[in-house]
Amino acid sequence: APRIELREVRFTYPGRAPALGGVSFEVPAGRQTAVVGLSGAGKSTLFALLQRFYEPESGTILVDGTDIATYSRAEVRRRIAYVEQDAPALDGTIGDNLRYAEPAAAPDDIEQVLRTTRLDGLVGRLELGLDTQVGPRGVTLSGGERQRLAIARALLRKPTVLLLDEATAQLDARNEQALREAIDRASEHCTVLVIAHRLSTVTEAEQIVLLENGRVRAAGTHATLVETD
Ligand code: ADP
Ligand code: ADP
Repeated sequence: APRIELREVRFTYPGRAPALGGVSFEVPAGRQTAVVGLSGAGKSTLFALLQRFYEPESGTILVDGTDIATYSRAEVRRRIAYVEQDAPALDGTIGDNLRYAEPAAAPDDIEQVLRTTRLDGLVGRLELGLDTQVGPRGVTLSGGERQRLAIARALLRKPTVLLLDEATAQLDARNEQALREAIDRASEHCTVLVIAHRLSTVTEAEQIVLLENGRVRAAGTHATLVETD
């Protein structure tokens, strides 16, 4: 079964035209899929439904073959992680941020997510004991580093799906590259669904879903979508 499957998902805010007018697509496991669309296309609404902030008015969202409407709130939270666009960091070290998020995390797992998100270099030569108290304080991190830290926090929960709001627009080239690498590596551990605003920023995604006015206008690889555009 695909990791995520949407079947004719409809959602309408009161008194508005449908925000999602029957959206269907599949997200294969262990891949990176991007949802691309202009402002108002329905991307945020889609993410809200995937986290069960709202329920679809009709249609079904399946994760690993199970309708998420049957998942408990705790199950949804455990399986589906979300990293917002301007993810804040707590005042404290990178280690503090990770431990607050997941107090029971094993040191090996902390080390792993730091490597995945390329924050290991920042934490520095702390060896495997990871006495992160002496690491850089969260508040001094750049925007790109904060987003990578938010991805690290999310990955510590070992979600099956990572929802990510792309925030590369404000990043310099080096931070953008580091974030892309972090997302690529994260997609080896879980299925990543990225919201993107422009087709040009998601050339690496294995699948792109183009949303327009609450409908899937096209789906495919970057190459096929650019051809048909
Ligand atoms: P973007 O997806 O580019 O970040 P937003 O999601 O902030 O943009 O807004 C997309 C559209 O949704 C805009 O036209 C905005 O007016 C509308 N919108 C967002 N939130 C609300 C709301 N609470 N009530 C009505 N319209 C909203
Ligand atoms: P995107 O994330 O792609 O910008 P949204 O999902 O935010 O798109 O918006 C889809 C449609 O739903 C838009 O027409 C927007 O105006 C409307 N919308 C979004 N949020 C709200 C809201 N809270 N109340 C009413 N309308 C909303």
